[in-house]
Amino acid sequence: MILLNPKTENFEHLDSQSRQLLKKTVQWFETKGKEKLKHDDHHRVWYSDFIEFVKKEKLFATFLTPAAEGDGETRWDTYRNCALNEILGFYGLAYWYMWQVTILGLGPIWMSSNKSIKEKTADLLQNGGIFAFGLSEKEHGADIYSTEMSLIPQNDGTYLAKGSKYYIGNANEAALVSTFGKISETDDYVFFVVESNHEKFDCVRNVVNSQTYVAEYVLNDYPITEKDILAKGKDAWDMSLNTVNVGKYNLGWASIGICTHAFYEALNHASHRRLFDHYVTDFTHIKQLFIDAFTRLTAMKLFALRASDYMRSASIDDRRYLLYNPMVKMRVTSQGEEVIDLLWDVIAAKGFEKDMYFEMAVRDIRALPKLEGTV
Ligand SMILES: Cc1cc2nc3c(=O)[nH]c(=O)nc-3n(C[C@H](O)[C@H](O)[C@H](O)COP(=O)(O)OP(=O)(O)OC[C@H]3O[C@@H](n4cnc5c(N)ncnc54)[C@H](O)[C@@H]3O)c2cc1C
Repeated sequence: MILLNPKTENFEHLDSQSRQLLKKTVQWFETKGKEKLKHDDHHRVWYSDFIEFVKKEKLFATFLTPAAEGDGETRWDTYRNCALNEILGFYGLAYWYMWQVTILGLGPIWMSSNKSIKEKTADLLQNGGIFAFGLSEKEHGADIYSTEMSLIPQNDGTYLAKGSKYYIGNANEAALVSTFGKISETDDYVFFVVESNHEKFDCVRNVVNSQTYVAEYVLNDYPITEKDILAKGKDAWDMSLNTVNVGKYNLGWASIGICTHAFYEALNHASHRRLFDHYVTDFTHIKQLFIDAFTRLTAMKLFALRASDYMRSASIDDRRYLLYNPMVKMRVTSQGEEVIDLLWDVIAAKGFEKDMYFEMAVRDIRALPKLEGTV
C-alpha cells in the first residue's frame, strides 16, 4: 500500500543503514507509546528524550551531513529525508518541527563557503546538536527586505550584532543559530552564526504554548568576526530563499504523515462502532468520505514523491523545482487540511477525545500551509 504503515514498513527502497535508522526511529516512538506522547503534548514537555535518541543514534548527523562534510557514513539525501519527515509527522508534529528547524538552520551553513564553520557543524551534529534558523522578525513577517537585525562594524574589523528575531524554533538549545541581517554601514545582507548559550544571546521567551520552543531572541551587541559570517550580499539573500525552499518541501511530508495517522484512527474507530445495527463503515456516505480522503492523501503522496526528483536534480540550469516545490508546500498541505476535515466527519465526537492522535492532527494540520512563508 502507498500509505505508511509503521508496523509493516521495511523501507526496502532504501539502503540498509537508512532502513535500520528509520526502523529504530519508528521503534522509539512505538516504545514511548501513544499515552506518553499525548501526555507530553498536553503538558508541553520539551522533547529532551527524543534529542537524546537523535544523539545516541547519530540520526541527524547521518541524515543531515552532506557526504563531503561527513565521515563516510553520512549524506544529505532528499529522497530518504522524505521518509523521516513522514514518520515524524505521523507520530507528532512537535518532533517533526525540531528536525525541520534543524534543517533550516543547517541550510545556510552547508550552502556557505565558510569551511571552518562547516567542520564545526559536522562535529556538533555528531555530538547530537540541534540547530535554528533566525530569519523572521516580529514586525516584518514575509517582508525580509525590511530586516532590522544589524551587524555594526567596529574599528578593529569585527562587528557587534544588534537586533531581535521572532518565531525561531529550537533557539533555546540550538548549537548554532543561523541569523539573517544587514551590515549597518552598507545595508548589505549578511548571514552569520551565533551560539544560543552565549552571554550576549538573550532567549527572551517561547511565543507558543506548545512542546516546541519557538523563540523570541535578542542579540545584545553580540561580538561577530569574519569567521562567524556565512555569506554577504546577494549570496546571503539567496541562501535565505534557497533554505526556505528546502523547508517548504518538507511541509508536504509532515502533512502526509499527519493525515495517514488520522486516517487509521478514523478507520479503526468507524469499523468497530455499531450504530442502528450497522458498522459505521457500512454507511454509504462514510464510504464516500473514506474514498475521498484516501484518494486525496494518495495524490498528496504521489505528487510529493514525484517532486522529490526535481528537488534532487535542482540546479542553476534545472529549475523545475520552482514549479513543483511551491505546489508541494501549498497544494499538498491545503489538501491535508481537507483530508482531516473529511475524516472528522467520520470520527465525529471521538476526534475531540484527549487520548486520540486525531485531536493533535486537527490542530497541527493547520500549521503547515502557514510555515516557511505564507504564500
Ligand atoms: C509555529 C511557527 C514556527 C516558525 N518557525 C520559524 C523559524 O524557525 N524561523 C523563522 O525564521 N521563521 C519561523 N516562523 C515564521 C514564519 O515563517 C512566518 O510565519 C512567515 O515569515 C510569515 O510571516 P507571518 O506569518 O507573520 O505572515 P505575514 O508576512 O505577516 O503575512 C500576513 C498576510 O499577508 C500576506 N502577504 C504577505 N506578503 C505578501 C505579498 N507580497 N503579496 C501578497 N500577500 C502577502 C500573507 O499571505 C498573509 O496572508 C515560524 C512561524 C510559526 C507560526
